[in-house]
Amino acid sequence: MPITTPEFFDAGTLVGVLTTQPLDRVLDYRAPEGGCWRGAFVEVPLGPRKVLGVVWGPGRGDFDASKIRAVNRVLDVAPMRDELRAFIEKAAGYTLTPLPAMLRLATRAPGLGDPPSMRKVYRLGEGEPSRMTEARTRVIDAAREMGGLSLTLKELSEAAGVTSSVVKGLVKSGAIREEDTPRDTAFPRLDPGYGGKDLTEDQAAAAEMLREGQRAGGYETVLLKGVTGSGKTEVYLEAVAEALRAGRQALVLLPEIALSAEFLTRVKARFGARPAEWHSGVTMTERRRVWRMVGEGGCQVVVGARSALFLPFQNLGLIVVDEEHDTSYKQEDGVLYNARDMAVLRASILGCQVVLASATPSLESWANADAGKYKRLVLTSRFGPAVLPEMRALDMRAEKLPAGRWISGTLQRSVNMRLEKGEQALLFINRRGYAPVTLCRACGEQIGCPHCDARMVEHRFLKRLVCHQCGESMPIPEVCPSCEVEGKLAAVGPGVERLAEEAAVLFPEARIAVLSSDLFGTARELKDQVAAIAQGGADIIIGTQLVAKGHNFPLLTLVGVIDADLGLQGSDLRAAERTFQLMRQVAGRAGRAEKPGVALLQTYQPEHPVIRAILAGDEEAFWSAEADERRLAGMPPFGRLAGIILSGGDMAKVFDLGNFLARNDRALRQVGAEVWGPAPAPIARVKGRHRVRLLVKASKGVALQGALADWVAQVRLTGDMRLAIDIDPQSF
Ligand code: ADP
Ligand code: ZN
Repeated sequence: MPITTPEFFDAGTLVGVLTTQPLDRVLDYRAPEGGCWRGAFVEVPLGPRKVLGVVWGPGRGDFDASKIRAVNRVLDVAPMRDELRAFIEKAAGYTLTPLPAMLRLATRAPGLGDPPSMRKVYRLGEGEPSRMTEARTRVIDAAREMGGLSLTLKELSEAAGVTSSVVKGLVKSGAIREEDTPRDTAFPRLDPGYGGKDLTEDQAAAAEMLREGQRAGGYETVLLKGVTGSGKTEVYLEAVAEALRAGRQALVLLPEIALSAEFLTRVKARFGARPAEWHSGVTMTERRRVWRMVGEGGCQVVVGARSALFLPFQNLGLIVVDEEHDTSYKQEDGVLYNARDMAVLRASILGCQVVLASATPSLESWANADAGKYKRLVLTSRFGPAVLPEMRALDMRAEKLPAGRWISGTLQRSVNMRLEKGEQALLFINRRGYAPVTLCRACGEQIGCPHCDARMVEHRFLKRLVCHQCGESMPIPEVCPSCEVEGKLAAVGPGVERLAEEAAVLFPEARIAVLSSDLFGTARELKDQVAAIAQGGADIIIGTQLVAKGHNFPLLTLVGVIDADLGLQGSDLRAAERTFQLMRQVAGRAGRAEKPGVALLQTYQPEHPVIRAILAGDEEAFWSAEADERRLAGMPPFGRLAGIILSGGDMAKVFDLGNFLARNDRALRQVGAEVWGPAPAPIARVKGRHRVRLLVKASKGVALQGALADWVAQVRLTGDMRLAIDIDPQSF
């Protein structure tokens, strides 16, 4: 997009203000005294209230002029840039989200309306105190030691070992100077020349391609593919360095931000200072600082979760989406958007480079690279002597395990071998809790969630049954809630906690660490645990999906996948893709350092094409076969798909509405799109609400959004009924 100079509106002229309130249009106001810039953050009157808004453009003037009110005040932050306004509009249009809801994502700045908050700092002054005491001398010495630098009251009094009143006393005489400085301070500068590694030939070539793209400027998407440990991070940090050299900012998106301690350390090692963080674990004060500094240029690199995409960067030159295939990039609540796709959109509007990094790219990105829309860079080997682990299937039909046991004899022997050598083993199961099913042996009842179409999962650690859909939980009952027979409830199937129990019996000497998201109170606890394990603080790691992502465990040489078939069940067309990615990723945990690794996959169907593809490690073949199937079916990424989720308390009414939409599909047929359903949604009942889904399918070139908007506009929602549109749904 060409950079246009911001338009200025003189006092009294009509401006259109977009607020974060659920209104369906931009409202006209009069520019305040002193005028305002386009993009200015403003406070406007709305009925009896004052609300936040952004000057979106000139007013429309189709309102009764006498009723138009004036903007109350312009907030003391940099105006929103044209680029971000364009991004918000396009993202809203693509996801069919109302503009105010989209704007809310970009205004999540604590204290946005407040004046920049100041704090008092203290340093050595020129004055002479009338009377010196020992305590006063200590304060002056401490201040002198700081040279010209300022300290807070607390810091200075602690440094001098006195109470704060001693410092205050010196302020009166001018011996210590008290000053106001803005609370939101700039982040330490990152130095692109600080700590680069010697790159391998492969890595250096890839880094140079990224740097070239940076220097050329303009939009490009690069798919950076390379097995885990091949140095993708090292390579894209060179693109970050290039952006820094050009004085531009960089944004790195990570899927599991809670796990980024290791990443932040690496950035610091590369650039000499830590970047800013943006995710739900960041304090309000810090978020406020990041939001402001990003807009004022006091922050060069942000490492964040998907919401960081909506930060008001002053001069963004690079977006990296690490683990681009990760499903957590798709927001499944509120505004439904895929952060990877939105990163590409923002980069294209901004005219900058976006790097999608993955060991196992999504089929979407793979196809885009194939079609020449994305540039592809491939790192083929792991860094150093490390090699990819050997992958083998363990045919569980031959293992003949007794009921209630999940670790096969072969896997047990392999683990023992590692333990003898002082190496680590990882047992992986993608299921939280103790057991997925609680079954009554008297009546056959499986305990379900009272509000959802889901089974209650036993969490022995919490001593409760928990619904993984809505979070409902209850104490583990003694009596079957259905037949009221006592003592017949049994835990069926394995979860990560149960696996830990079995491992404790099989490997009594081993130190076992369990990594599952619900066993950690805070992100910090998890970080500490991961760090301790990496340093050899455990012999056996038992974990869920949480361990599949990006940790380095240098002593780990064996990965045992307890149930490789788990992801292959169900009717989801993406099941194969997901399983392939997950298995490759988990296996990638083994053999990072000098020690070669092995991955053993326990499976009842070793002949399954997906399992065979995983074992063969022939990605190209796997992707081509997957792509052929999707192409034939006209499914994404070769066709377009949208989901409409209808929900409400009354199942019959929800279905009626679904049928109404399915019958009245003229708007869709006009663009050649077809409707499937209504059918129960993948999760058919959540929190007491019944959910029904319609899928809309169209061929690739169709501008589906307009037709969808017209189509759903026929619906009048009454009572508790809701309608949500999910463009590019994750499961189909
Ligand atoms: P990926 O992101 O592809 O999983 P990383 O960039 O994390 O790979 O690299 C894996 C490990 O190898 C890291 O510990 C990294 O520091 C190290 N490494 C990669 N390339 C080099 C290099 N050229 N010199 C030194 N260490 C390297
Ligand atoms: Zn529930």
